[in-house]
This record gives sequence, structure tokens and C-alpha cells, in this order.
Amino acid sequence: MVDSIEKIVSLAKRRGFVFLSSEIYGGFGSCYDFGPLGVELKNNIKKSWWQEMVRQRGDIVGLDSAILMSSKIWQASGHLTAGFADELVECKKCHKRFRSDEISRSKAKNQKSRCPECGGVLTKPKKFNLMMKTYVGPLEDEASITYLRAETCQGIYVNFKNVLQTMRLKIPFGIAQIGKAFRNEITPGNFIYRTREFEQMEMQWFCAPKDANKFFNYWKKERLDWYLSLGIEKKHLRFREVKKSELPHYAKRAVDIEYKFPFGSPRSGAGWKEIEGIHNRGDWDLSNHSKHSGEDLKYEGYFPYIIETSAGVDRTLFAFLCSAFTEVKGGRTKTTKSVKEVETVLKLHKRLAPIKVAILPLVKNNPEIVKKAKEVYDILKPHFMCQYDEVGSIGRRYRRADEVGVPFAITVDFDSLKKNDVTIRDRDTMKQKRVKIKDLILCLRKQL
Ligand code: ATP
Repeated sequence: MVDSIEKIVSLAKRRGFVFLSSEIYGGFGSCYDFGPLGVELKNNIKKSWWQEMVRQRGDIVGLDSAILMSSKIWQASGHLTAGFADELVECKKCHKRFRSDEISRSKAKNQKSRCPECGGVLTKPKKFNLMMKTYVGPLEDEASITYLRAETCQGIYVNFKNVLQTMRLKIPFGIAQIGKAFRNEITPGNFIYRTREFEQMEMQWFCAPKDANKFFNYWKKERLDWYLSLGIEKKHLRFREVKKSELPHYAKRAVDIEYKFPFGSPRSGAGWKEIEGIHNRGDWDLSNHSKHSGEDLKYEGYFPYIIETSAGVDRTLFAFLCSAFTEVKGGRTKTTKSVKEVETVLKLHKRLAPIKVAILPLVKNNPEIVKKAKEVYDILKPHFMCQYDEVGSIGRRYRRADEVGVPFAITVDFDSLKKNDVTIRDRDTMKQKRVKIKDLILCLRKQL
């Protein structure tokens, strides 16, 4: 587990996971771009979630709704009214802005809140709506205003009837969706933890009101188990029951899944920060959309309750990186010269690792070894995400592969030319074994 956010930021930049958006123009609005390894990792996280939530179940179906929707949806959902607004305070001295729920107040002394940066006096809290406004069509007038979606789930609610009817479903069932969401956050920051453009993996579970509590508890456990199954340690995960006074406008009950990050938050204490929310949204969404659209969204005469599981792709990716980051003092490869030197191993779960197999010719100045290694690369490429690397000493190449979490490194050496076999090195145990080239696909598939 990493001990500082800077180490992750540096690795992410250096090895092509995450770049600052619009970097050559100085960055833009707390947005980030995912590089060649970042996009693979992100895709693997999304694939794992989809597999777990849709493919392996018979009672959840998928959806991909548009980001731009009628602004009436946001009226009905409560996002345009005070419901989806954070309270903003500004320091009268340094003019920095903060979310007022992030500023601790000293009630005992009945003091005015002070700026956490410079100690200056803060303004009174002002409501600030988080919806990103845009115009659709050539005219920039009131009628053409709409918003980039702030959560993916509204697209699910307004398609409830379409999905129910076309898939001939019976309650209880779920609809899952992965996609971008946008929020004009007041205090983005902590790298990709809070950004203005991010991705969500959301599942909406429609059930009878009497079963809502039962399913709430069921989904809490299911979702926690997903993180555990992908290698996050139990001691770094916890539930936080959201206080009644902090509940979002749509929720009857909310529990956050929190991960212990290497940075803190005044609200939840050192390190613990939300990565996913489990919400009992009651009949808020379907009843409001029925009222505003005039469409009857009841099922057998009642509005189903909704249990929502809402995870951020970017936040979970950050948590997976933090939890996989391992430093080995004195090193493990022969490249390390001093006991003080530290080697990094990214112990990502094999299913999440962006590159599954590295193919390394032992030496690059032997044309036969290079040719054989390229043959192995061509054999494996259609089956696994592979990387061919011939630059630098073999130790250095193992080290490079470890740093980005490649689970298996394959070396083609002089014996390979005679025996048509290679060595496979396991990232975590560093054990090596020889395997015939013809058995490689099967052997790797078993372990991946
Ligand atoms: P927070 O209290 O941190 O602002 P939230 O309670 O508003 O989060 P939800 O509306 O419950 O978040 O969204 C569900 C999930 O979407 C969060 O658990 C998080 O993983 C992700 N998410 C929300 N806002 C952001 C953001 N600005 N940047 C990255 N991920 C986000």
C-alpha cells in the first residue's frame, strides 16, 4: 500500500497511466486523460464490474443512455433545485473557495469559520449548483439550455418502462450502466479522486418497497466483496452510514464504501474516503418522473423502490493503484546496486493488470533469439495484452515490467532455440519455470 499520493501521481505520469488534461496548455479544470496503460486498467475495471453485475447474473441487464438529455429530467430529479448544490464559502482574505461541509466549525467557541489556508474570515455559505450547463442547437437561448449528466442513473429511470417491456422482466431486477458524468465541483483535487469529468458504474435495482431493506443489505455485501475479490485488503475498506442530515435529496438511506487513501478528509478522518455509495432512493425517481412526464411508471399499481450501487471508475482505479503499490527495499532484481535503493512492484490483481505478458529476448544482438521472441509475441498477441521489450539489460526489463504490474514475463534465451521453450517469471513470487512454446497459451490462460 502506498504511503503518499505523490508516489502514485509520479508513477502514473512516468509510466503512461494518467496525464493532466490539456497539459501543454498548463492543464484544464481538474480533468485528466488516461494514457496507454491507464485506459487498459480502466477497461479491465469496467469489464470486471460488468462481468460481475450483468453477465454472471440473470436478473440485471445493461444500458447505454445518452449524456445529453432533456433538461426536464433534471427538473424532475431535483438536480436543478437546491437538491444538487454544495454550499460554498470564500475566504475574504485569500479568496480561495471551499465546500462548507469540509470546513470544521468550532461551535463551542461560537467562532466564525476560518480559512484553512490563511486563517482569514470566510463568507456566509452560498448554494452552488453542480450541474454543467450547455446549449443544444445553434441558438443560445433559454429553450436550448441543457446539462451534461451529473449521474448516469437518470438515463436508467427514464428508460425503466422501455427496458421492462422489451426484456419482459419481473421485479426484482436491475439495470446497469457505465458512463461519463460531469459535476462542476467547487473543490476538485487529490489527483483523480475528485474531478469535474469522471466515469460511473451504476446499477439500479428495482424492487417492492417491503423488500428494500433486505436488498440494501444484500447489495452492501455484494459490492464490498467485489473490491475484496480484486485484491484490496479488508482492513483498507469500511462502510460509513451517512447521517440523516447529510443524505442526498433523493435518498432514504445511504452507506458509503470507503477506502483508506494516503490522504485524509476533515469529515471522515485520516485517509478514509468514499469510493462507492449504496443508496435506498425509495420511489423518489420513478414517482417524480411520472409526475413531470405524465407517463405512468408504476409496476403492478405501485412505484418500485430503487436500491442503487454507484461507484466511480476513476476513484476505484485510484484505490486499486494505491493498494497495489509495493516498495521493496534493497531491490529484488539484479539491477539494484545499494540496499537503500527501492524497487516498485505494482501488485495489481491479474484480471486488472493492463499488460498481462511481457516478452523479452534475453539479448537483442542475437538475430535468432530476437526472431524467436517476435514469434512468441505474435502467437500470444491475439490472446493477451502483451508487450515486447528488448531495450536494456534483462534485469532492468523485469524491473520495468514489475513497476507497471505485468504478472508474467517471458524470456526467450539460447536454450529456447534448441528446445522450443521459454521461461515464465511470476511477478509476485519471482519463480521461473520453463514451458514449451506450444503450451504457452493454455498455461497462461490457466493462470490469468
Ligand atoms: P462526494 O461526497 O465525494 O462528492 P458523492 O456522495 O457526491 O461523492 P455520489 O453522488 O454518491 O458521490 O456518486 C457516486 C460515486 O461517483 C462516488 O462514490 C464516486 O466514486 C464517484 N464520484 C462522484 N463525484 C465524483 C467526482 N467529482 N470525481 C470522481 N468521482 C466522483
